[in-house]
Amino acid sequence: MRLDILQNKDIFYRQNVALKKYNTFLIKSIARHFYIVNTINALAILKKYFDDNGIEYIVLGCGSNILFVNKYINKNIIYMGLLDSIKISGNTIVAQSGAHINKLVEAAYQNSLTGIEFLSYLPASIGGAVYMNARCYGSEMSNIIQSVGIIDEYNNYTEIDNKGCLFEYKKSVFQNNKYIIVNATFNLKKRDMSNIKNAKAIIKEKMISYKNDRIKKKQFSYPSAGSIFLNDYNTNMIAGKVIDASHMRGIKLGGAMVLPTHANFIVNYKNANGSDVYNLIKKIEKKVFDTTSIRLKNEVHIIE
Ligand SMILES: Cc1cc2nc3c(=O)[nH]c(=O)nc-3n(C[C@H](O)[C@H](O)[C@H](O)COP(=O)(O)OP(=O)(O)OC[C@H]3O[C@@H](n4cnc5c(N)ncnc54)[C@H](O)[C@@H]3O)c2cc1C
Repeated sequence: MRLDILQNKDIFYRQNVALKKYNTFLIKSIARHFYIVNTINALAILKKYFDDNGIEYIVLGCGSNILFVNKYINKNIIYMGLLDSIKISGNTIVAQSGAHINKLVEAAYQNSLTGIEFLSYLPASIGGAVYMNARCYGSEMSNIIQSVGIIDEYNNYTEIDNKGCLFEYKKSVFQNNKYIIVNATFNLKKRDMSNIKNAKAIIKEKMISYKNDRIKKKQFSYPSAGSIFLNDYNTNMIAGKVIDASHMRGIKLGGAMVLPTHANFIVNYKNANGSDVYNLIKKIEKKVFDTTSIRLKNEVHIIE
């Protein structure tokens, strides 16, 4: 590692970092090289260093769509959690990518801004949600994003408008390019302000109803990364239904289990390690293929 990177006061480099608190599966892998950046400039310097030297890295938000498979993760990890400011001006919110979605939803609520409630209790960072075009309750990030600020392939800060994000179902331009998302701009609607108390109460009610729905569906009953496999809306293939048809609910492997109430969720029900979850994913893929000839595709990002 170059000395000026190690000495940069806005880049914190740590070795052998326990990843349990950085992934929602609570898998106990260890990162050999873990970087936390404090400024966008520091992020650009670090990215340039990696790119110039052909060094691989992983950008980490809340780790709610990531499976760490091995005990030791050798790839460099850049954690975004310190870039978490949220600024509001009128109906516009600019949120840095490391901010938690709940912080964004709460900020919108406090300012009587509506349209973002569907994201309530999504355990994600802004960056991860943009990258994945997160989709909940019939809406998705693409419906509320005005533009996204990135460090581009030349390590410059650039803004991409909504159209340029090439959003599709669980897809975005960020998945196929060497970009790091640093912020997102949202243009929301102000609720009728003639009665502020009422305006905020309506927003809060929606937020709570989404939260309660997630709780009712037992999404937080065990550590998980949400849905494991993608749906295919072109062929009307809903992964949960296909897995269900292969009678996989409740199946266990090591400490991993297919959630009995949601066939597309694998959970860490008892001290699972990454390979338990990985092997269960493979088992589901095989069983579904043998039963239906459908090849499931992962939604969760597998890091070995
Ligand atoms: C209980 C539960 C419920 C869930 N429900 C839903 C749901 O309803 N809808 C849904 O869509 N998803 C859902 N998910 C999955 C997950 O929350 C989303 O995929 C989310 O968008 C991931 O965000 P993250 O910050 O955790 O990303 P991470 O898991 O940290 O990363 C995911 C991917 O994004 C990349 N990435 C992250 N930040 C950046 C950045 N700043 N720049 C570039 N790349 C970046 C990572 O490198 C990785 O490839 C759920 C997960 C859980 C655990």
